[in-house]
Amino acid sequence: MEYRDLKKQYQVFKPDIDKAIEDVCTKASFIGGTPVKELEKQLAEFVGVKHCISCANGTDALQLALMTWNIGKGDVVLVPDFTYFSSGEVVSAVGATPIFVDVDKRTYNIDPKKLEETIAKIKSEGKFTPKAVVAVDLFGLPADFDKIIPICQKYGLKLLEDGAQGFGGRLHGKGACSFGDISTTSFFPAKPVGCYGDGGAIFTDNDDWAELLRSYAVHGKGSSKYDNIRIGMNSRLDTLQAAILQVKLKAFRDFELDRINKVAKKYTDLLADSNLITPIVPDEYYSSWAQYTIQLPKGTDRISLQKKLKEQGIPAMIYYIKPMHKQGAFEGTDSAIAYCPVTEEICDTVLSLPLDAYKTDDEIKLVVNAIKKLSKS
Ligand SMILES: *Cc1c(COP(=O)(O)O)cnc(C)c1O
Repeated sequence: MEYRDLKKQYQVFKPDIDKAIEDVCTKASFIGGTPVKELEKQLAEFVGVKHCISCANGTDALQLALMTWNIGKGDVVLVPDFTYFSSGEVVSAVGATPIFVDVDKRTYNIDPKKLEETIAKIKSEGKFTPKAVVAVDLFGLPADFDKIIPICQKYGLKLLEDGAQGFGGRLHGKGACSFGDISTTSFFPAKPVGCYGDGGAIFTDNDDWAELLRSYAVHGKGSSKYDNIRIGMNSRLDTLQAAILQVKLKAFRDFELDRINKVAKKYTDLLADSNLITPIVPDEYYSSWAQYTIQLPKGTDRISLQKKLKEQGIPAMIYYIKPMHKQGAFEGTDSAIAYCPVTEEICDTVLSLPLDAYKTDDEIKLVVNAIKKLSKS
């Protein structure tokens, strides 16, 4: 069994994807052009925001947002301690300091109460100025924006929604990647909507920021690429990826998103009588299920369990094995100082199970039976 079966997905859409690739190659227009423009329009419409700016990957998308807000030295950006490295890496990359905040044990997303406590502490210490919050929609579930948005407003902080895993999720019927002042996503192949290489996108309703984002993404361009009015990056989504993504976005919207929710529900139903903690989707939320992540009983030998599953042909992954504040890159910096007991606990107990829109009920049963047996022994 594949962890995320991109081979199977390709077989389903092979005629459409091959045609999309052929069209781009025939026109030999590989940068920009109609597929990129059309895709940006479709993405903005799907998410429900005014502007979509495509770029080279989800990490650049986050960094471009911070550059647009002129965040840098002396500024603090609050980031969940339990996330992929990019969410915090970009803060350091622009010269600011990421401060990590603990997460909720059941949703895996940033804990609003701890977020507010941490902001208050930074303000009272006076060494740094808190400027923004990165709220990650981890594993496909939108962050707790009902609580996070008022906190950002109260303290005058910008909200950057890292929807790299959240694209397709919803809260109160509103699309993920529409909650941030600027929001971002990634089209890395294994994300909810993936391309055939790297890709990313940035979303905002703000006209001025949209213009700045387009400039920063293309060498700080002014009136043209050869008129450079600020120091930017070279971060574009190439035309081939945009053409492939148009096919994939349609499939995602038409049935994949619905189907992956059914597969996830199957897991949850079958695991209900086990000693494993299954992921929750609170009322009013809809997940895009970037991952299906369970928690094993404390003290379980996770590595040996993962190995035994592998022997039965079942791939399982550990997302994430280390709290952000304990990553070697932050050693000795202010970012290494954090009190995040929930993150420390779940980093030792989480296990993500194989999941995609094409998994059959029999495959889910096979995984569940294997893991039930192994987690008891
Ligand atoms: C994948 C991911 C990113 C980065 O996206 P890339 O396209 O790989 O650069 C950022 N944040 C989170 C939460 C991610 O999962």
